[in-house]
Amino acid sequence: MATHGHSGSGHPDPLHGIDETHDPNLKSWVESANDPATDFPIQNLPLCLVETSAQDPWATAVRVGDVYVLLEPLRDAGLLKGLGIAWLANPQSEFVEVPSIRSACRKRLVELLLADSKELRDNKELSARVILPVDGASGTGAFDEEPPIAPSNYTDFYASIHHATNVGSMFRPDNALLPNYKHIPIGYHGRASSIVPSGTSFHRPVGQTSPPDSDPSAGPGFGPCKLMDYELEIGCIIGRGNALGSPVSIADAESHIFGLCLVNDWSARDLQKWEYVPLGPFLAKNFATTISPYIVTMEALAPFRIPAYERPASDPRPLPYLTSDANTARGGFDIALEVHLQSAEMAKRSMSPVRLSKGNFRHMYWTFAQMIAHHTVNGCNLQPGDLLASGTISGPTRDSRGSMIELTWDGDPFANPPKLVPGSQRTPIELPTGEKRTFLADGDTVIMKAYCERDGYRRIGFGECRGTVLPART
Ligand code: MN
Repeated sequence: MATHGHSGSGHPDPLHGIDETHDPNLKSWVESANDPATDFPIQNLPLCLVETSAQDPWATAVRVGDVYVLLEPLRDAGLLKGLGIAWLANPQSEFVEVPSIRSACRKRLVELLLADSKELRDNKELSARVILPVDGASGTGAFDEEPPIAPSNYTDFYASIHHATNVGSMFRPDNALLPNYKHIPIGYHGRASSIVPSGTSFHRPVGQTSPPDSDPSAGPGFGPCKLMDYELEIGCIIGRGNALGSPVSIADAESHIFGLCLVNDWSARDLQKWEYVPLGPFLAKNFATTISPYIVTMEALAPFRIPAYERPASDPRPLPYLTSDANTARGGFDIALEVHLQSAEMAKRSMSPVRLSKGNFRHMYWTFAQMIAHHTVNGCNLQPGDLLASGTISGPTRDSRGSMIELTWDGDPFANPPKLVPGSQRTPIELPTGEKRTFLADGDTVIMKAYCERDGYRRIGFGECRGTVLPART
């Protein structure tokens, strides 16, 4: 394979892990992988689990174009020899934990899928067992998909300074950003049991809400959530864990990451407002968290690494355990993000979802390496498959806000001094049907998308993270 250098360098960049598998000229004999619009060219190869039949166990696969490549039959046929693939769906596998093994497996898969590679392509008996169209062999229906590892722990961070400032301005107009924000990657422990794969519907949660402002002495309200929201987040799936009592240094942090996915941290804002003092989110968050099925590996993301957020000179420097030259130089990710919404009425009329926002992960104040170093500095142990979510991703502009509570809020903490912002004004979003939304209605489907683009490289995507709000149970 020809090696490829990005603009200006003329040779691969070993520091970023860019190698021949990122060559934009690579083509596959899986024709749909060569479509410029696909999320899944041969340069991506994200992992997922697929339910191939009701009888068989879920199969580990990489997604390429419009097909899955099933890894177990490839391994059983001896085509992945020596690559540490024992049982892929087991989070203890070397494949998940060891970046060099993942990288070797990626190179081997690219080799097998290249346009002029005959080994798998021309073995009709084997390729019939290994290659599975995503729409089903007879085109009769899509298979169920899940992430390749079920997270056993879930931590949600708050790493977007734009989100923290927007939300802080609503609740605390005089004191939007709390004094710890620029020193600590703020987070809380979420609930792993209610993480669901993309495509899962859930019932609007029921719970307690604050007494009315007009009568604070009245008791709390109780009933279906009235302020149902989504949160656009990127999830970091841990590959290698750390022993209890052994912190992960920021220098080693990225070697503990398996890959990234999309996360929708559904949020019941009215429940949250009443319950979050003094210990933070609880029932407002733990009824459902949707995760995209594909894990885009750190290896696939290598060309899209960028410097960490550049802090203004007036901001405090992070403590040494949260700082490294490598993190400053390339701790960030250039990932474009979109949120789309389709109401039940739009679906009934066969109208396409409408885009609510467009942003980028580059605006995050804290990097995943900093979040991992912070999470473990006290000796806390991360485990293979753990999900660390970034927190709502909002950018500096209004159309890049990553939640409804921010999108329909009229305040602007950057353009206006927070004191002058009333904070309670909301402008509804008007849908193509004429329906209006300040928060989500029953039957609304939220679809999140993410992709990476850079001159000189193939575009890669994350697929979708989709979920529908059903009416509350009566
Ligand atoms: Mn969140």
